[in-house]
Amino acid sequence: MTMTAQIIDGKKIAAETRAAIKTDVETLKKKGVQPGLATLLVGEDPASKIYVASKHKACQEAGMNSFNHTLPKDASTETVLAKVRELNADPKVHGMLIQLPLPPQVDSERVLEAVTPAKDADGFHPTNLGRLISAKDMAEIYARNIPIPCTPLGCLLLVESTGLRLAGKNAVVVGRSLIVGKPAAALLLASHCTVTIAHSRTQNLDAVCREADILVAAVGKAKMIEGSWIKEGAVVIDVGINRSPEGKIFGDVDFDAASARAGWITPVPGGVGPMTIAMLLKNTVALARKHARPV
Ligand code: NDP
Repeated sequence: MTMTAQIIDGKKIAAETRAAIKTDVETLKKKGVQPGLATLLVGEDPASKIYVASKHKACQEAGMNSFNHTLPKDASTETVLAKVRELNADPKVHGMLIQLPLPPQVDSERVLEAVTPAKDADGFHPTNLGRLISAKDMAEIYARNIPIPCTPLGCLLLVESTGLRLAGKNAVVVGRSLIVGKPAAALLLASHCTVTIAHSRTQNLDAVCREADILVAAVGKAKMIEGSWIKEGAVVIDVGINRSPEGKIFGDVDFDAASARAGWITPVPGGVGPMTIAMLLKNTVALARKHARPV
């Protein structure tokens, strides 16, 4: 099969974004603010510990402050809430991230809602999600400094990196999770695409996908989106991370087959994945910016 699609290099774009963030951090430091991210991990989940460590490393590389808070795995909701309130009040903390999942005895909803929307680094607070939906376009989202869920924002920047004009394009998002699908659809709508959200009850998914000028796949099923479902020249953003029994990672899209039809496509790994942490830093720096003194 001949490959025609251009590869959207998420690794490279994420590195460029992080370099730009580093410059922003230097500017903010001159204005008296060192952007700071606090993470709160409850328990010892090994995967969560790795994620948290990589977030701190990225903060340090960008010249940001990062504060790691860990509570024991049997911590009560009240204990977690007390820590959240402490971080809400800490002037060095501009962004806060509660590492999910929380242990079962902790009321996750109460904890997430207790994070002040002004420090909601991953944009999942209902107030910020409401603001995201209320905004009429991306310009308003940026102007109002609304934190944007990180993986969906990464997807949007990867689409924008193609140079394609988004207004009026048909965008199909497969998956409707709160973490990826729904906010990705909201961002594409705010970019003036005509948006379809598909999910497990969608009928004729192949036909729905064939209409997509922009296809975002966030399902969690290896190679579920077949090459023949791709519209010629489409932008294909593959969010899926699926591990085979041998430990190999596959996206939700059949990459080789889709590459023969798509105009642009993200690889897995090396596409959406590297963008997520870069967007977390971007949100935190944006939240810190309003504390900067004028020079
Ligand atoms: P969820 O499991 O929360 O959501 C999956 C969605 O896919 C649901 O809306 C579900 O529909 C839909 N779905 C399931 N089966 C089908 C089907 N046969 N046809 C159409 N739709 C279907 O997953 P997430 O959104 O959290 O994650 C999706 C993928 O993205 C995963 O592989 C995850 O690992 C990856 N991911 C990657 C990130 C990154 O940084 N690159 C970050 C976050 C996630 P329904 O609602 O009807 O059940």
